[in-house]
Amino acid sequence: MEAATRTTIIQPDVAFLRDLEAAGGGDAKKCFQCATCSTVCALSPDNAPFPRKQMLEAQWGLKTPLLRDPALWLCHNCGDCTSRCPRGARPGDVIGALRNLAIRHFAFPQFLGRLYATPKAWPVVFLIPALLFLGIALLSPSGPAEAAPEFAHQFPILILEAVFFALSGFVVVAMAVGVWRFGKAMKAAGGGPILPGLIPVIADAVVGGRLRDCQDRRRWRSGHVLMLSGFVALAAVGTVIGVGTMFGVMETPLPLGSAIKIFANVAAVVILAGSVILLADRLSDPARRQASGWFDWFFLGSLAAIALTGVLSQVSRLAQAETLMYAVYFVHLVLVFALFLSAPYSKFAHFLYRTVALASVEPKRRLRI
Ligand code: SF4
Ligand code: SF4
Repeated sequence: MEAATRTTIIQPDVAFLRDLEAAGGGDAKKCFQCATCSTVCALSPDNAPFPRKQMLEAQWGLKTPLLRDPALWLCHNCGDCTSRCPRGARPGDVIGALRNLAIRHFAFPQFLGRLYATPKAWPVVFLIPALLFLGIALLSPSGPAEAAPEFAHQFPILILEAVFFALSGFVVVAMAVGVWRFGKAMKAAGGGPILPGLIPVIADAVVGGRLRDCQDRRRWRSGHVLMLSGFVALAAVGTVIGVGTMFGVMETPLPLGSAIKIFANVAAVVILAGSVILLADRLSDPARRQASGWFDWFFLGSLAAIALTGVLSQVSRLAQAETLMYAVYFVHLVLVFALFLSAPYSKFAHFLYRTVALASVEPKRRLRI
């Protein structure tokens, strides 16, 4: 009797393969499936090891299963597998590129996801906020001639609040739609309910979690921790100041010696240190430098530049260097706007997508983030 046979037809998505290459995952084609990467990865679970399987799917251009695979988000890009891959296929970077493509795929609206993914878009990304803030500066009445120069004379606080309030509303909606689409995809791929898994996943992230298990790239790890902690601190203090001024219980600029101001300045320096370490980490490794896309450079470069221009704005204001202080503050506002608008499409979105993916597998695998 003839044995039953099953034929599986694989249809590679050629456009997806091109996108993967452009996003920095082109080395996937070098993989010869030795499985060293899955063996050395400290985060790879025994019952569903990665990233060998994902490397094969990437070679085959299997877009749908890849973009809804929670394993992309279990990887923390520590580089242990990349440094041990005998073929130079850079599995860690391929998984990172796949994560970027997943964010672009689930983005809302999608054209903005695509816009932020390509270097060709940089004039648009920076030009629109530049024109906006230039218009505000030109149309605002200058302060009294005898008064010391203040940022609010060229960039009135009420107008800035209105701009960033509207931007926040858009960012929250875009982020929520993207994460909702992603959550649905996780469910379709067999993931469990998200809400019950959230608490253990977030609790583990707060205490340092999965990054501890990675062996290599200690410099990258410390840069990551510095940047994240500085960013959380600055976001918290920015929210307090924003709400405080909106309800009239605070007045900006805060005195240099105020506790909130000192805290904010320390946080800015911590972000600057973290982003410089991460930039140096990428630049010092030629292969990693080549595998890095616009997505990586834009985020790290903007964060470093925002922290730097924030500090320089204050220094030039204290020195009463009028032209310089307005020019630096203008650049600072443009960068903050561009980075804030990128939140649903950039590394900010990584944090939310990763949390959702981990929460969806948590009940099954009891994984630590
Ligand atoms: S990516 Fe490298 S280590 Fe992993 S299976 Fe392929 S060749 Fe082996
Ligand atoms: S980069 Fe690190 S966490 Fe990601 S698959 Fe490789 S070894 Fe695992």
